[in-house]
Amino acid sequence: MNYYIEPIARLINELSRLPGIGGKTAQRLAFHIIDMPADRVQNLTQAISKAREEIQNCSICCNLTDQNPCAICSSHSREHSQICVVKDPRDAIAMEKMRDYKGVYHILHGSISPMEGIGPDDIRIKELLHRISDGDVKEIILATNSDVEGEATAVYISRLLKPMGIRVTRIAHGIPVGGDLEYADEVTLSKAFEGRREM
Ligand SMILES: [Zn+2]
Repeated sequence: MNYYIEPIARLINELSRLPGIGGKTAQRLAFHIIDMPADRVQNLTQAISKAREEIQNCSICCNLTDQNPCAICSSHSREHSQICVVKDPRDAIAMEKMRDYKGVYHILHGSISPMEGIGPDDIRIKELLHRISDGDVKEIILATNSDVEGEATAVYISRLLKPMGIRVTRIAHGIPVGGDLEYADEVTLSKAFEGRREM
């Protein structure tokens, strides 16, 4: 039996579908939202729908952006012949925090994972190849995670690119195995980056 009146039950249900939000937290948030002043609730719902509406994938690097191409792809001070390939947008943010990377990015939006049924066609590898065939790319830096999926993805991409005569490097494993780039501190990431090797 449902103890909640329908609008509250619905709100709890929607909130509990978010990552890291269990039933109890969803309930607490729902009651908090109901107690909030109407204008703050409106600000919150507008922030959610505006972010969802205005953010798109950059047509070049596939990163999240509110302008297309994104600020990095349209920048003249970036080295466009050097592309750092990462799993998701948060990894590019981690790289940017490191500050010394002056190249551009390619966001795969996932890793190859046969266990989860994610194949090469399910992530943005085609877009990367297209980009390479189009432009003057000198180096591809594979900065996918050091877990099994990240490694498999790096090996797969390097096998595709090697015959194209492009320098392919992999960042060093200064970051703990299975550790996300996102969580690596800037010094560790900077060292992993400097210590990158030919694949
Ligand atoms: Zn871009």
